[in-house]
Amino acid sequence: MKNDLTSIEFFILVLSFPLKVYPGSIKNAFMRKLYLATAVSVALMIGLRNPQTGQKNFFIEQLAPGVWAAIQNDKGGHAISNAGIVDLGNKTLVFDAFMNPDAASELKQTAEQLTKHPVSFVINSHYHDDHIRGNQVFVPGASIISTEWTKNEMKKAEAEEQEWLRKNIGKSLEKAKQQLQSATANEKDEAVMWLGYYDGIAKSLPTLKTTLPGLTFKDSLWIHGSKRSVLLIECKNCHTASDVVMILPVEGIAFMGDVLFVKRHPWFGDGNAESLKKQLEDFYANASLKQFVPGHGPVAGKGSVDTLIRYISDLQQLATEAVQKNEVDSDFIKQDVLSQYKSWWFGRFYPDNLTEVYHEAKKK
Ligand SMILES: [Zn+2]
Repeated sequence: MKNDLTSIEFFILVLSFPLKVYPGSIKNAFMRKLYLATAVSVALMIGLRNPQTGQKNFFIEQLAPGVWAAIQNDKGGHAISNAGIVDLGNKTLVFDAFMNPDAASELKQTAEQLTKHPVSFVINSHYHDDHIRGNQVFVPGASIISTEWTKNEMKKAEAEEQEWLRKNIGKSLEKAKQQLQSATANEKDEAVMWLGYYDGIAKSLPTLKTTLPGLTFKDSLWIHGSKRSVLLIECKNCHTASDVVMILPVEGIAFMGDVLFVKRHPWFGDGNAESLKKQLEDFYANASLKQFVPGHGPVAGKGSVDTLIRYISDLQQLATEAVQKNEVDSDFIKQDVLSQYKSWWFGRFYPDNLTEVYHEAKKK
């Protein structure tokens, strides 16, 4: 909260400047008081709207009364993905648990400070490590919820991945440090994020415990609180075989998990680009939805959903042309990122995304 106060104080200082430097500038005493009161109100409004709240691993952005996005601090923080906090009234819900327990502890503490209730529900949008490894800090107090498929996949994937990481994290961390050192000016910011990614894993591994969801569902699930209800929708064969999008129908907010990436390349490697596109088109067409919290990148409006739909279409078109020309996939995936997506982070996912759309085009 430190940054909020700093910004409020700063704006009070700026707005009261004319009175201090030119005491005669507003002559009438009543007008002077009125000006000062207005200045303080404006400063408070600006300060309270400032999303920066001083957390180490993420920053908080309020989307509606009782609804917050927790956006990853990508300057070396350990969250690695975005999360959400929802005050259900009598209970608190957290959407996604971040990559590492240290970031998740901060999320839990922040959620409880904001809502004044302990966290009762944690949703895992899908099985990828950067959305589920913080689970352990929420139990036994909260129920962890995912789709049935996600729980089973998480169990399998985490056992394999953690075994691999315990053997290889030293090398990966070293490589990330070297990449940062040799990064160009354009690559530097993203290299800092990846260093945070490997640093977080190295630090969390000694105490990391795979914590599986205790409640599972298929298709959809409503969670009702005294103030509001949220709808969990299973998106099949999107970013993975099973992802959860959380809808707040009254507020028109969708927590998308990795069904949506903003200003970052998505990851098609564990999903299906064509059905992801269809799901995104449905969300785009849903007139009641106004704000979208992606799994990676800033909070967005409909335009970003449309951009991702176009990204998928553009890659599909490239793949269709390559298949028609009998180009082999090993050549096809070597091509440069399309110019309109060159500024996006996660360019390392591009060859895998091309592979996925190529194989989908081949099946047609
Ligand atoms: Zn993911």
